[in-house]
Amino acid sequence: MSHQCRACTAGLEHCHGALIHHAHLRDECTEDDCLTPPAAHDMHLDCSAVGCVCDEVGAVSAHRVG
Ligand SMILES: [Zn+2]
Ligand SMILES: [Zn+2]
Ligand SMILES: [Zn+2]
Repeated sequence: MSHQCRACTAGLEHCHGALIHHAHLRDECTEDDCLTPPAAHDMHLDCSAVGCVCDEVGAVSAHRVG
């Protein structure tokens, strides 16, 4: 462990990766083999922030606005 945060010091289950929230796929973490619950992540990203387009693809097929 190279860097310790408050949760590390307290021995809490947490993850230093960012949890990526997909619109139509399962949430995924930037850390490989992350087994930490979603709520234990400090950082949360929309998948569009990492160049994923599942949101747009899903919006077209699943929902038509207007
Ligand atoms: Zn930590
Ligand atoms: Zn994680
Ligand atoms: Zn996505």
